[in-house]
Amino acid sequence: MKYDLAGIGMTSQRTRDRLVQRLREEGIQNEQVLQVISQTPRHIFVDEALASRAYEDTALPIGHGQTISQPYIVARMTELLLADNPQLQKVLEVGTGSGYQTAILAPFVEQVFSVERIAPLLEQARERHSALGLNNIRYSLSDGSWGWPQHAPFDAIIVTAAPDEIPAELTQQLAEGGRLIIPHGSDVQRLSVLQRNGDSLTQTDLDMVMFVPLIRET
Ligand code: SAH
Repeated sequence: MKYDLAGIGMTSQRTRDRLVQRLREEGIQNEQVLQVISQTPRHIFVDEALASRAYEDTALPIGHGQTISQPYIVARMTELLLADNPQLQKVLEVGTGSGYQTAILAPFVEQVFSVERIAPLLEQARERHSALGLNNIRYSLSDGSWGWPQHAPFDAIIVTAAPDEIPAELTQQLAEGGRLIIPHGSDVQRLSVLQRNGDSLTQTDLDMVMFVPLIRET
């Protein structure tokens, strides 16, 4: 078998449980999200040489100049996405990367549409999801700053790379009441939640964050 799903030592269930306890102490309140994190082997989402560090609460390199997001941020963004809206049908994710955020999100929603611009990352993510038996994810190798118009509108959109400014294409693809969770900014980045109500959007600015840039192909 290609992946050691259960893990041993630094990748064991005990190590995952310690991470979950730490996330709880850092303020993550959604116990269902914590439960999924405790059951998801983050070590298969990084290179084997980094597996022993998979349950540290840090971002780690995944090649191609990209990183797997810090567990706290994954938990936080998932919590924001699910907040008082537990019945999400269609969710768009921009920036599949390692596929870890996708794997944490997938159990909560009917269908995830995940977009990535680097082919080898998308292929690896797909293999990992299939090893975990996650079969409600559709993939697209493309520039996610345009969203995925064929499947819009989405009940929520989560972006895991930061544009300087929030792309209008993404807010336009939100369903009524839908939410966009997105980091943005050039020097300093902030995590924001935008919600569509009719023709208007409300924006709430939250934590300061550090994401790799969202690359817009021209
Ligand atoms: N959630 C991922 C984060 C990966 S880093 C994880 O936890 O592993 C962000 C990812 O966004 C990178 O893989 C990068 O290639 C991708 N990305 C950057 N700009 C993009 C764009 N315009 N469209 C699609 N993906 C993009």
